[in-house]
Amino acid sequence: MTEEERIELANLLFPNIDKTRDYYEDKYPKRNLSEEAMVTRYGPSPTGFVHLGNLLSAFADMVYAKQTGGSFFLRIEDTDQKRMVDGGIDNIVSVLHDFDILPNEGYSFGGEYGPYQQSERTEIYQTYVKDLIVKGLAYPCFMTEEEIAEIKEEQEINKTKIGIYGVYAQDRDLSLEEVKEHLNNGDEYVIRLKSPGDAKKEIEVVDCIKGKMKFPEHDVDTILLKKDGTPTYHFAHAIDDHLMHTTHVIRGDEWVSSLPLHVQLFEILGFEPVKYAHIAPITIKDQETGNIRKISKRKDPWFGVKYYDENGIPIEALHLYLATITNTNFEEWYLSNSDKDITDFEFSFDKQAIGGTSFDEAKLINLCKTYFSRKSGEEVYNETLNWAKKHDEEYAKLLEDNKDDMIKFLSIEKDGPRPRKDISKYSEVKEEFSYAIDSLFKKENYSKNESEKEYDIDLVLDYVNNHLNLDCDNEEWFNGVREFASSNGYAASPKDYKKNPDDYKGHVGDICEAIRVMVTGRLKSPDLFSIMKILGKDRILKRIDLYKNR
Ligand code: GLU
Repeated sequence: MTEEERIELANLLFPNIDKTRDYYEDKYPKRNLSEEAMVTRYGPSPTGFVHLGNLLSAFADMVYAKQTGGSFFLRIEDTDQKRMVDGGIDNIVSVLHDFDILPNEGYSFGGEYGPYQQSERTEIYQTYVKDLIVKGLAYPCFMTEEEIAEIKEEQEINKTKIGIYGVYAQDRDLSLEEVKEHLNNGDEYVIRLKSPGDAKKEIEVVDCIKGKMKFPEHDVDTILLKKDGTPTYHFAHAIDDHLMHTTHVIRGDEWVSSLPLHVQLFEILGFEPVKYAHIAPITIKDQETGNIRKISKRKDPWFGVKYYDENGIPIEALHLYLATITNTNFEEWYLSNSDKDITDFEFSFDKQAIGGTSFDEAKLINLCKTYFSRKSGEEVYNETLNWAKKHDEEYAKLLEDNKDDMIKFLSIEKDGPRPRKDISKYSEVKEEFSYAIDSLFKKENYSKNESEKEYDIDLVLDYVNNHLNLDCDNEEWFNGVREFASSNGYAASPKDYKKNPDDYKGHVGDICEAIRVMVTGRLKSPDLFSIMKILGKDRILKRIDLYKNR
């Protein structure tokens, strides 16, 4: 076709497209940002399910953009209507809010480079396709599904590459007359790229995470616009990331194999190339087989993001975990910098894992424990209350009614260089501090936690009634228990007991254990004296009574 014919063809196919490429190039000028600023984007498809891998890439988008003074935007990639789910878009936005991974621009966040929803951008894609047709770099293809299926079958038998390329690209060189004939017949068509590639040649792509990669050139006439005039993922990616001035495309590495096509699209469209950073997938060691496998929606409850909220994993702790997956040196840095937080860490692509990262629940729990240990009692109280309001209203009400006590309990052993590391989730507070709220403390608390031992109730009653002093410091209190132990046939220290076990009924620790079990229903608890101070003598006596009548 001559240039005039191609112009005629373009107008015939897109009579309603009256804007030009230049119009859009002017409408979306280069961003006014510094050289090192990264512009990143999270481009989810609204399939209704947001998983940990999605959060991981959005998290990386956020930290890289933030630390370089760039921009992180949300683009809804809804070109594939088959994958759409009702409420899927709202779900994406609310997950980003819930997990505090907030874009500063994009769908529902505003910005100058919108619309940020691909289904609203059809006119833009068609403008660029129209231009490619004029340039002879794209063409309408009228091949039927059956024809394509036959070709595929033949390619499978011959073990050659699948797709429409070379001799298979039958409509590549149709004349204007032939196209017109198809159009007059009302034949359906897609628009295909007229790929200039030669699979015998190689291209080299440098990925920010994976480094140098070599591929054969892309030579397939990939579909750019589908029959309904909407773009394929590949074409929309090139147009959008160009017009939105993305600098770094951070995405899952299932897209690596599309790189030759993406690089070619940028080239033929005359766009400045973007940088790619392909994130390794999250894997898991299978419980049954012990093999490393891909995560699965069905087998791994933690894969869906709802899990974290429902189980009461603090958002900031999840961020810490995402940071450890993002950069291999993060965890060590965080654990040895107790006064710093994520924003003080400098993330870099060099420190990103190239192979799969295994999901490590123990690591997540440990980070959660560290997180809680660094929070004051009041902070833990407020966050637990917020969580409970959503997931356990009854407990939330009790927390509100017992606020002062609860904060005091949560503050025990928080000061000092090694603060307590007892809880890892908001959902554990109720159980872990089960002795803190009287109305929750029932006889059953004893059967859950008590040791097999029969404790001497009269001895503990005598101690509490006649010897317990709550108006002193911990050391003085403990000396008092020692004295009480000695005068009741118990050794004042475990050491003395061990030397001559036959001389004693037990040692001071046994008395403390008896008190602890009666007061808290648990064999292990934070500092016993602090707990007793908060409860006061009356409530302690009520607990002993409850124990007696259990
Ligand atoms: N819409 C694509 C997906 O959901 C995003 C891929 C990308 O970030 O480029 O898989």
